[in-house]
Amino acid sequence: MTTLITEGGPVADDATVTRTGGVPLAPPGTAWPTCADCGGPMRFLAQIVLDGSGAAVTGGPGPQDRVLVLFACQNRPGECRDWDARSGANVALVLAADALVPIPLPVRSDPEGREDADPDEDEDDFGDEDDEDDEDLLLLGATRAAEAQFLADAPDFDRARAAWADRTGRPRTHVLGQLNGAPAWLQNDETPDCPACAEPMRLAVQLQEGPDPVTAMNFGSGRAYAFTCSPCAGAAFLWQC
Ligand SMILES: [Zn+2]
Ligand SMILES: [Zn+2]
Repeated sequence: MTTLITEGGPVADDATVTRTGGVPLAPPGTAWPTCADCGGPMRFLAQIVLDGSGAAVTGGPGPQDRVLVLFACQNRPGECRDWDARSGANVALVLAADALVPIPLPVRSDPEGREDADPDEDEDDFGDEDDEDDEDLLLLGATRAAEAQFLADAPDFDRARAAWADRTGRPRTHVLGQLNGAPAWLQNDETPDCPACAEPMRLAVQLQEGPDPVTAMNFGSGRAYAFTCSPCAGAAFLWQC
């Protein structure tokens, strides 16, 4: 049994469902996470709903459910170690699903006074261009709902993806990843142990980069994996290519 998630069309940026892109939700007052390697704000990638048993699901959460929120640094691709679960250049948060609000975009510190540097900029648009640049770096260009596809006979992700594409006639790039189950590694098995209880963590979601190169996540053309330890409410994120 493999549970794929496929492109489910657009959804509200702040919807409490499993989605890629949009805006991150967290308890009121939560600061935008920053990268341990460069100190800058990280990019929000995806939000995954976890049910009461800790399994990843696609629908809106019930009162006891949680959400897994994923960020990775995109400030210096190839330098900040956002592929590494222990680097601090990415973050995976498990949050209680009730009372979540969008985290405001961080206020950019501007030590070089760049906003004053462009004499051609119309006063009415003061700073707008920079704000849009920040959004491009910190938010994906599309918000996509994840639709669950249960493939009972498919033993692994790659065969499930091929079977789904054959059956539906849709491109394989419309498969956003998979929920739960076994990670389809591109390199060695890197299943992390929970830092709190030392048990191996469980795959919550495997993410592909996305169907559209303009709005794609950057995993070096590879795949990302997010793991959770349900009893400890811990999570870890990494990617391989
Ligand atoms: Zn960084
Ligand atoms: Zn644990």
